[in-house]
Amino acid sequence: MNFDLTPEQDQLRDAVRALGRRYGHSYFVEKAKSGEHTTELWSEAGRLGYLGVNIPTEYGGGGGGITELALVCEELAAAGCPLLLLVVSPAIAATVINKHGTDEQRKRHLPGLADGTQKIVFAITEPEAGSNFHRLGTVARRDGDDWLLSGRKCYISGVDEAQYVLVVARTEDASTGKLKPALFIVPTDAPGLTRSKLDMEILSPENQFLLYLDDVRLPADALVGESLDAGLPALFAGLNPERITVAAMGAGTGRYAIERASEYTATRKVWGGRSIGSHQGVAHPLAHAAVQVELARLMIHKAATLYDAGRDLEAGISGNMAKYAAGEAAALAVDTAVHALGGAGMTTEYGVATLLGAVRAGRIAPVSREMILNFVAQHVLGQDKSY
Ligand SMILES: Cc1cc2nc3c(=O)[nH]c(=O)nc-3n(C[C@H](O)[C@H](O)[C@H](O)COP(=O)(O)OP(=O)(O)OC[C@H]3O[C@@H](n4cnc5c(N)ncnc54)[C@H](O)[C@@H]3O)c2cc1C
Repeated sequence: MNFDLTPEQDQLRDAVRALGRRYGHSYFVEKAKSGEHTTELWSEAGRLGYLGVNIPTEYGGGGGGITELALVCEELAAAGCPLLLLVVSPAIAATVINKHGTDEQRKRHLPGLADGTQKIVFAITEPEAGSNFHRLGTVARRDGDDWLLSGRKCYISGVDEAQYVLVVARTEDASTGKLKPALFIVPTDAPGLTRSKLDMEILSPENQFLLYLDDVRLPADALVGESLDAGLPALFAGLNPERITVAAMGAGTGRYAIERASEYTATRKVWGGRSIGSHQGVAHPLAHAAVQVELARLMIHKAATLYDAGRDLEAGISGNMAKYAAGEAAALAVDTAVHALGGAGMTTEYGVATLLGAVRAGRIAPVSREMILNFVAQHVLGQDKSY
């Protein structure tokens, strides 16, 4: 068992931490409040190679794995900049295209994903299907060599800042008539694709959208992979990286909140000469949250290590557990930090309550805690499927 990072991973962690701190949470909040994106941070991270750490070197990436990308997600979040698009663009889209795309698709997309000049967001969720992707209603039909896509997607993050959206659609399996997923790389300005911004109670520079696909015409090579058979493995390829990196973002956010609160409670004095942190009623909840965050980090490390070793099934279990643990720990840490700061906890200045919406959403998306518990009950505990 090895709990140490390699010297290169250590260096990466330190460098990303320094970059994140240079921008900091106030930058993140300012961008969110003014309706802008974190373009400067994203571009600089791209130029420095941090967005492409998991992309092969032949396409301009760092040649590392999800372990490295999870470090980037965690450290930026720990600096108060939890960038959700790291989870969709480099984690999901780059992995899917690298593992299941055609040579042409790899050449077209991976270099831009690696240096951050290209963003590809991910659209699976639909209003009617929700957590049950077997009910996907976005249909892909052949029209000569082209494809026509029709359907609706919801809560899709970052469409306004991306050049492409990776859309999960359904085709029918010719033999069984059952869902056969197919993934398409759709330009965000494709005729027939329209969007409307959702008003979300999350303070974030990244937005969520409803997407309407009305006979969006795509050339044959918009389909990910050489044939329709690539659809299911391509869809699953994105899931473990998504869970691991979103967990890392949660753990980083939890670290950030606990650090803010600990600094405050160690110095704030309202009873004579003693800091409020000397009262166990203040310190224990923070210590408890710190334990939960650290446990989640261990599981993230395990999941990323298994994933990078190609042990996908085990990584699936650990990745789901890591996502569950980090989602709960981040929500606990931010709520506990807000409370430990008292009234200051609710101000913008102290930069903790600004994360309440984001960590609450982290218990729902990209996969809800209940769906993870269903997965664990079924695949670890051997229970019958409950739904
Ligand atoms: C901030 C944010 C960003 C997002 N970004 C994206 C994105 O970029 N791309 C994308 O495709 N989607 C995105 N989503 C959507 C997200 O993945 C879904 O919201 C999530 O998967 C839950 O689906 P739903 O909202 O339809 O909930 P539903 O499926 O309607 O579920 C509602 C509630 O019922 C519970 N539930 C449902 N089924 C079961 C069951 N069988 N057993 C027990 N409990 C159950 C759920 O856990 C949940 O609490 C985002 C969501 C948010 C909030």
